[in-house]
Amino acid sequence: MQELFGDDCSAPLAAKVLLDGRDDMVFDYAIPRGMAEHVKRGCRVTVPLRGGQATGTVLAVAEPEPQLGGKLRPLTKLVDEAPIISSVLLDLAEWAARYYAVSVEQMIRCIIPEAVRQERHDEKTRKVVHLESWPDDDTLNKINARAPRQASILRYLHNLPEHRAFLADLGGTPALNPARALQQRGFVRISEEAIHRDPAGNEQFAATTPLELNPEQQAALDRINEASDAGSTQPLLLQGVTGSGKTEVYLQAAARAMARGRGVLILVPEISLTPQTMARFKGRFADTPEAVAILHSAMSDGERFDEWHAIRRGKARIAIGPRSAVFAPVQQLGLIIVDEEHDPSYKQENTPRYHGRDLAVLRARMEGATIVLGSATPSLESLYNAQTGKYSLLRMDHRADGQRLPLTRVLDMRTEPKDKRYQGILSERLRMAIDQRLQRGEQVILFLNRRGFARSLQCPDCGHVVTCEHCSMPMTYHITENRLICHICGYRAVVPHACPECHSRGILLEGCGTQKVEAILRRGFPQARLQRVDADVAVRKNALRDILAAFRAHRIDILLGTQMISKGLDFPGVTLVGVLNADIGLNLPDPRAAERTFQLLTQVAGRAGRGDLAGEVIIQTYSPQAAAIQFARRHDTDGFAENELGLRREFQYPPFTHMAVLTVRSVQEELARFSLETLHKRLEAALPPHVQISPPIPSPIAKSYGQFRYQCTLSSPSARSIADTCSRVLADMNFGDEIVATLDIDAYTFS
Ligand code: ADP
Ligand code: ZN
Ligand code: ZN
Repeated sequence: MQELFGDDCSAPLAAKVLLDGRDDMVFDYAIPRGMAEHVKRGCRVTVPLRGGQATGTVLAVAEPEPQLGGKLRPLTKLVDEAPIISSVLLDLAEWAARYYAVSVEQMIRCIIPEAVRQERHDEKTRKVVHLESWPDDDTLNKINARAPRQASILRYLHNLPEHRAFLADLGGTPALNPARALQQRGFVRISEEAIHRDPAGNEQFAATTPLELNPEQQAALDRINEASDAGSTQPLLLQGVTGSGKTEVYLQAAARAMARGRGVLILVPEISLTPQTMARFKGRFADTPEAVAILHSAMSDGERFDEWHAIRRGKARIAIGPRSAVFAPVQQLGLIIVDEEHDPSYKQENTPRYHGRDLAVLRARMEGATIVLGSATPSLESLYNAQTGKYSLLRMDHRADGQRLPLTRVLDMRTEPKDKRYQGILSERLRMAIDQRLQRGEQVILFLNRRGFARSLQCPDCGHVVTCEHCSMPMTYHITENRLICHICGYRAVVPHACPECHSRGILLEGCGTQKVEAILRRGFPQARLQRVDADVAVRKNALRDILAAFRAHRIDILLGTQMISKGLDFPGVTLVGVLNADIGLNLPDPRAAERTFQLLTQVAGRAGRGDLAGEVIIQTYSPQAAAIQFARRHDTDGFAENELGLRREFQYPPFTHMAVLTVRSVQEELARFSLETLHKRLEAALPPHVQISPPIPSPIAKSYGQFRYQCTLSSPSARSIADTCSRVLADMNFGDEIVATLDIDAYTFS
């Protein structure tokens, strides 16, 4: 019997195909003879499924599942000749799927953008007619007599320096038949040429040449180059004050990686908000503009399709984009730069909730690429990694332009004289400072910190914030229960009638929205040209870019905005930055609240005095003693980090632990509450002892987007334990369509 199963009878290998749009259904398919050579991990394929056809991704070519008894249906079609997803990117997807407790399929959807999956976005082509040979006079006369259109095409092409033209320029479709006739006689050749839809469009980028680096920059660049020569993938944390010239270091490191034939990936927090980064890269590589590709959400599907393929084909060697670009198919990746690595927008706030910077670090390791994480105010996660030797620290402590950091003043709003006309949002001193700049024809940025929906209680007289007695986090007011609830541990408390510290009855709940502030400021400074920038304004395509351009051209005197205007912008005419309320961000139930406030204040302060004019920063606050505010005033990142890491360690917050938020949503309130309670009970039984879980907490706004939300917070030194246990328990619960449960590993929002 043994003989019968000789070599040529051994079971042929099967393609293990992960089907699109289904949660991790992997099926085996037979590989038809003609395809055997081409079917590999990462190929896209079409397969038969329940009488129809489905698409999917080949995860592996391996022995088929034995229980199938060798009866496999064959693949229908190979979508691409070569694997469209590299093996490393698939590894990254599989790793991220497990870490963030989502399906591999969801991660693959991040790797191949929708625009690339849909074949209707197939590359646009146009016909080009080339002159191949020029007829002798006699023949030309004959053609002219019998087919004047053909003759005129020949003459037109002959007169062009390149002897070729788009069919459109020859008269479009009516010219096609005469051109074909000419082709048959060998006078012309018709070809198809891809049109590249470039998101940068017709924008011109002024060419720049490398600057001579100052010693700090040179030292940083040398370290980056040494790491890349040595093939080191240990992340380099580049801590450089605002204006220290980090971008110039990135540009020169990128140029060198390119010179060595390697590809470069540059992640920026939000590309529509950092057009300067793109412009600076396009400008530096201006002789080969096609070498720089951009990927971002405001692009059309066609543009995205073209840029993506340009990167994958290796035509574009540098890819720039926000967090989703961490999956860009850059060939021979040699260098990854994560600019403003501390920025919270690297964390995706919908499923899959991955962290772009963290995946970039992992990808660098998998690809053998050098990675640079740059920031003036690095995240505590990264600083801690540098302290423990996981990352290597590079520092640039001086501004490249020789300017001094701006003078920062903190105004105590509990005692500052306020002008009634400004309803408490503007102190007398900030108002005078604005007036003075307007008179001098200088520009002002006013910054309104506004984030999340959480409402905490703060006393306007003494600045006291009601915090949880167990975790020292600000408590969140829940209107439906009229209770204060701690979003970290679930502790509940009654709302005090008066301030527990000073017994003032004016204890405040309300913050002020940008629109209201705008109205108040307009009344106060009727002569000033004022522009508001917030999420509402920025929804219009290019709105932000246009506003920033107008501000740069000094057609705007006062720019009033949210965190949006704090990022990487460089305005020489700005001499005053006012922070209207430093507190709101501070009083969030979020272990990173102080860190984020510190980062925002430091970044915002970096906007002042970038040109020849000295800058001043005025911070209005009810908590002037807060560490985040005091350290930001002194531009003391090290001092802040040391202080804050001490607190994080004491309360076991990140980076000393991983925190996750488990949320259940439903349009039916009872269902949401009951489901989370059940889930919670099962988790308490199933979680290993090193995982802490809070009691169920309702959402502070009971209902958002028509759904009721209940959540609980989990923390553990092992993110894996949280993800694995939650995935298992959730799968067992088998919620129907009426309930949506999401797990946010390494959460950045807790309310
Ligand atoms: P960062 O990204 O660190 O905030 P930038 O890269 O925006 O800093 O640089 C701040 C300013 O300093 C820019 O105007 C830049 O052109 C200039 N700059 C950078 N490096 C140099 C240098 N080596 N010599 C002169 N000017 C420089
Ligand atoms: Zn008080
Ligand atoms: Zn608590």
